[in-house]
Order: sequence, then C-alpha cells, then structure tokens
Amino acid sequence: MLGTEKEINRFCLELSEQDVVQRIYELKAQLGSRLLILGHHYQQDQVIQFADLTGDSFLLSRQAAECKDAQYIVFLGVNFMAETADILTSLWQKVFIPDINAGCIMADMAEACQVRRCWEVLQRSFPGEVIPITYVNSSAEIKAFCGENGGLTCTSSSADGAFHWALEQDMKVLFVPDEHLGRNTAFKAGIDPEEMAVWDRQRNRLVGPENPRVILWNGYCPVHQEFSPDSISAVRKKHPGVRVVVHPECSCETVQAADEAGSTEYIIDCVRTSPAGSVWAVGTEINLVQRLSLEHGDKKIISLDETVKPCPDMLKISPRNLLRCLEGLLGDRTENIVAVDSKTAGWARVALQRMLSIR
Ligand code: SF4
Repeated sequence: MLGTEKEINRFCLELSEQDVVQRIYELKAQLGSRLLILGHHYQQDQVIQFADLTGDSFLLSRQAAECKDAQYIVFLGVNFMAETADILTSLWQKVFIPDINAGCIMADMAEACQVRRCWEVLQRSFPGEVIPITYVNSSAEIKAFCGENGGLTCTSSSADGAFHWALEQDMKVLFVPDEHLGRNTAFKAGIDPEEMAVWDRQRNRLVGPENPRVILWNGYCPVHQEFSPDSISAVRKKHPGVRVVVHPECSCETVQAADEAGSTEYIIDCVRTSPAGSVWAVGTEINLVQRLSLEHGDKKIISLDETVKPCPDMLKISPRNLLRCLEGLLGDRTENIVAVDSKTAGWARVALQRMLSIR
C-alpha cells in the first residue's frame, strides 16, 4: 500500500492513461460494496464511466441519503454536492472528492456572512414574514442558515415544490443564490414580475418594489447565463423544426423563448421520450449534451450555443485525480475528505430533509 501523499502522487503521475483506468477498476473491485461512486451528469465521459450511480443534484442527494452500506462515498462533481452527501450520510461514512478545489462559481456568489446581513435588513423591514430558500448550489453554512430560520434547500427539480410550500404559508421568499432559477420558479408559481425584488449582494441593498413577495439574490451560473434568446433565434433559423429545451438557470427571457425548460433530469427525459427523428437544441452543460447525442443516435441533439464553454469546476475532476483519491482512502489519507462540522451539518440536514419530504 502507498503511504505518503508524495508516494501516491508519484505513482499516479507515472501511470499511462490506460493504466490509470485499469487501476481504478482494480480498486473498485477490491473495495466492493464498501465504495460508492456518485457521478453528476455534467462530468466528462472519461470520468462518468466509473460512477456506480449517476444523476442530477436532487437524485444524487437522495441516493446519498439512502446509501446505508458504503463506508466510502466518492463524489464526481463539485464541492457543494460532496458536502450535501456528507450531511445526509451517517457519521461512520466518509465522503471524498477527487479535487477539493472543484467549487461552483454560482455558490461562491453567496457567502454566509452576506446572507446574514441581508437577513437582518429583511427582518427589520418584514419581521417574521420571510422564508429563506437556498438552491442546493450553496455552501453548507447557507443551508444551515435556512434550516435554522424555518427555510429549506431546493434543487432545480424541487424548486417548484419549495416555492409552493413557502407561498402557501403566505410568506415572502428570499431565494439564494441563483437569481434566474428564482425568477423562473416564481414566474411559474404565478408571481407577477412587479412583485419580485433583487438583493444586490455587492451593494447590500434591496432593489425593486417596496413590498415584494419574492426577493432574489443576484447570483448566476456563468455557464447557463450564456444561453440567450439570440441563441434560440439563431438555432431556429439554422434548424427549422428544432425543439429547444433549456435549464432554468438560464435567464427568464431565454426560458420564455424556449419550448421546454426544466432540471437536468427533465431535459434527459424530454430527449429520451421524444420520437425518433426529433431535433433538439439543448441549453445546458456541454458534457451532458454530447452524451445525450451519443446515446440517442436516432435523434439529432445539438448544443443551443456551441460557443458556450464547459463548467470549469466540473472539468477539474479527472481519472488521474480520482485514482489519487482512491489510493489515498485506502491508505487512510484525509486530503480528499469533505467533512461538514456537526453543528452546521445538523441545521443543514433540517433544510435538506424539508426538501426531500416535500417532493
Ligand atoms: S455548471 Fe454552473 S451551477 Fe453547475 S457547478 Fe458549474 S458554475 Fe456551478
């Protein structure tokens, strides 16, 4: 067994790409049911091939919560997903990520201290009238904040349910950190755009109506924000009869111009259930679009805008750093462990369990 981090690094660097793949499969066989590898749909094919289960954030959080056997859970995705898995699994289970620096640009747009500052202002203006909802693309600290303040977490699959849950209680919603997902969901729930305000995180102030029903944090995903109504017009012109499906992290104008909008699982389902010969332009991360195109040879599946780059953080996960992570866990090394402290995890679990129970 390789002992030090240096030994592991040297061993992994010296292997050919083919040997890396073979060694990962050997270690998977050796660890058997003690190891569970969860893979997000936005991962590259060369990485996703090692996943035992694949899904979007919602499915993967559910799978992590239901996983009762594996001692080691390795997350092929970004940091907030691994944190979520750690929060939802038992204390004896350890969660790892092959690159601890794989973050999420959108999640980093909301820091817990900024959210607390916003909350203080909202509590002065609307005492006891606001429910905080955080998109799962956020730190464990923000999830904990929502759990502790009567709110919850949601994914793009469960955002509708989360909004209905809050609005049925006749409460205002503070939605963090994705302005677009919040606006699209509020719009779908029948909220007038005139009743939506934006919390300007850079200036620490509320912009919009004085008495809003929904307050949107002004964060965004730099990948999905690139898709625009212009991309849709261009693809319709080039491919007459094309159907356009986009993720709700795209802007409201883009969602309105598309034929369909929904979570990653919704997009996959749209393509899968459409008849042979269908033509789809898909507005989401390119790795998923390319995989859909390969898996559905009887349909034409293209990216809504081929100039949109892949998510830089998802790209940080590679077979070589997965191997390094697996060799490390065998040697009881802790470099790749994602562990949320127990107080934060406790309240974050409350927010996540509320999400899992309303869907
Ligand atoms: S695609 Fe966007 S939301 Fe998803 S991890 Fe990358 S930056 Fe974050």
